[in-house]
Amino acid sequence: MIIDSHTHYPFGEFKEMKNIVEIIRLARKFGISKLCLLGDVFHYGSYPNEEQIKETNDLTIELTRKHPDFLVGFCYLNASNDTDFCLREIERCVVQNGFKGVKFEISLNCRSRKMDAIMKKVTELGCVAFHHTWYKSTGKHEEESDPSDIADLAARFPDAKIVMPHLAGCGMRGVLDIMKHKNVYIDTSGAQPVSGIIEYAVEKLGADRILYGSDVVGRDFSAQLGRIYGAGISEKDRKKILGLNAQKLFKLN
Ligand SMILES: [Zn+2]
Repeated sequence: MIIDSHTHYPFGEFKEMKNIVEIIRLARKFGISKLCLLGDVFHYGSYPNEEQIKETNDLTIELTRKHPDFLVGFCYLNASNDTDFCLREIERCVVQNGFKGVKFEISLNCRSRKMDAIMKKVTELGCVAFHHTWYKSTGKHEEESDPSDIADLAARFPDAKIVMPHLAGCGMRGVLDIMKHKNVYIDTSGAQPVSGIIEYAVEKLGADRILYGSDVVGRDFSAQLGRIYGAGISEKDRKKILGLNAQKLFKLN
């Protein structure tokens, strides 16, 4: 079983990938049985307002209703928006529409205390928080979080389940940052496959804390799956990373 824990579906047509049906067809071809949709997070830039957030989540709601067996929704949030709005949006997406968690991008660094009420709600609901992160030497956005920021968030909310995406972007240093925070998982999405990094993460974190993700449609299934198939790990660990961990963490059937 393969569950892609990190995908995006854009507004409008996207080059040759014209619609969700085509993406689902491609995913099936690669043996994937579910796609977690994190929303079209950059369509409205770095600081989407309330209406733009709602519009992004409306699209995810529409898609997950059309393909309930294949698509799993996540609620996109800009934590610098009004906190009450964020809490209402979580209620709408997670409680009323069965989304499995929330997704933060680069609108607010996760050390901000403005995250706290939102993370409290996520913890109470027992759902999952994806928070973008990357270690960059150039081009870092002013509010972008890196793995040391995620470690700070995880220490403040030890009972929250947090997914830190982009293993290759976080690197070995990122793995070490979150190592002691057992409530942090890491997804493998993004960048090109890097030899040895999956093996390093398995050694330091254990396979149970690693999830396969592609970042489709910004990336492709083949290269992103290739890094899992090519890793020198046990078949048992590979199965966990490809789907079993996501099934358990997101409570999927
Ligand atoms: Zn992404």
